[in-house]
Amino acid sequence: MEDQRLFIPYDLDGVVYKLNDLKLHERLGFVGKDPRWAVAHKFAPLKAETTLKKIVIQVGRTGALTPVAELEPVTLGGVTVERASLHNEDEILRKDVREGDRVIVQRAGDVIPQIVSVVSDEAHYKRERFTFPDQCPECGSLAIREEDEAVCRCTGGLICPAQAVERLIHFVSRRAFDIEGFGDIWIAVFFKAKLVTEPADLFTLKEKTSAMEKALQDYRVALRAAKGKAAPAKAKSPKKPEGEMKSITNLLAAVEARRDISLERFIYALGIRHVGEATARLLAQHYHSLDALLSGMKEVLAPDDLTSIEGVGKVMAKDILGFFEEPHNRTVIAHLRNHVRVHDYVTPNAQSAVAGKTVVFTGKLEKMSRDEAKANAQALGAKVSSSVSKKTDYVIAGPEAGSKLKEAQELKVSILSEEDWLKLVGGQ
Ligand SMILES: [Zn+2]
Repeated sequence: MEDQRLFIPYDLDGVVYKLNDLKLHERLGFVGKDPRWAVAHKFAPLKAETTLKKIVIQVGRTGALTPVAELEPVTLGGVTVERASLHNEDEILRKDVREGDRVIVQRAGDVIPQIVSVVSDEAHYKRERFTFPDQCPECGSLAIREEDEAVCRCTGGLICPAQAVERLIHFVSRRAFDIEGFGDIWIAVFFKAKLVTEPADLFTLKEKTSAMEKALQDYRVALRAAKGKAAPAKAKSPKKPEGEMKSITNLLAAVEARRDISLERFIYALGIRHVGEATARLLAQHYHSLDALLSGMKEVLAPDDLTSIEGVGKVMAKDILGFFEEPHNRTVIAHLRNHVRVHDYVTPNAQSAVAGKTVVFTGKLEKMSRDEAKANAQALGAKVSSSVSKKTDYVIAGPEAGSKLKEAQELKVSILSEEDWLKLVGGQ
């Protein structure tokens, strides 16, 4: 089988041998889950030696920097291999892969080819070690690696072309700028047409309606071509689809409606790694205004200041600082401020029934996610704690609540169901 493998029109990585005689199956039985009447035999992975020409860094949609080896083309099991994954920085260090090395590559079970090892000849040691970049090759922003993480990430989310579409989709999403009528496809189309490359561009779209139409038209043509359908017979004056014009008008109106925004939404919309709605609110609460936030991030004590906020840990603080330290991101914010008014944080209504109360959520919530519940409670002026104490005013316990519910009972803290809670805060 191994000899024939190259001539079989599909990939295989081994053979399973089974006894044909079913009576013997019973007699032989199992060892644990493994039958004694069948055995698997994996072929040795296909390997070959070649030269690693260059290590290039690719940037994924989430900003992860992945090293890829460009190889002198080599045939492996009938397939020409020119690239192999190197996974991450640690992998390069562990295998001591250097540009120009002779390397052994393998394809096992038809996965992406890997570099198994380096031929450590004399020349290998004369070559320079590979230094992993600390800048994103796509946009030049700082690339940082978090503690306990193997992956290095670009911090230029808002301007990095590799991540831009993802970030713009987040920016207009419901809980961020909430620009209705902006589908993912439109963002991709307008980005490709260079109409929207950073968030601030959204607010100048009204000057570019004909370019928007053209971009959408080109997209439709390309889509039709991709589907293999011929373009429709050339009409003398190509009719504009009315629906689309209307959508563009609606979109522009939706954009106009978002020239005023609260600080917490603005922070959330920036798409800082690890900063969800709840954290965005905490930051807004702590810094109060965008100016204070921006200047606060420049302070020497910024890391301590950030971690002094309950709910902001070290890892998160590093992400937040990394974001604001990146000059590109500051530029993006400056551009946005030319079009958008960011309102200072408004202290929640002191009239709310839960203002100033300390609450703890435990167990499963059914009507909202834990983060939403927290953000909602904080918006109403409550303090959300993660542990129950005598100072706790309410414990909101859903199904499967455990020790916290017990503690609440022992300390005689008021216990509410999710429904009770919603009633208390006025059905929000
Ligand atoms: Zn980048």
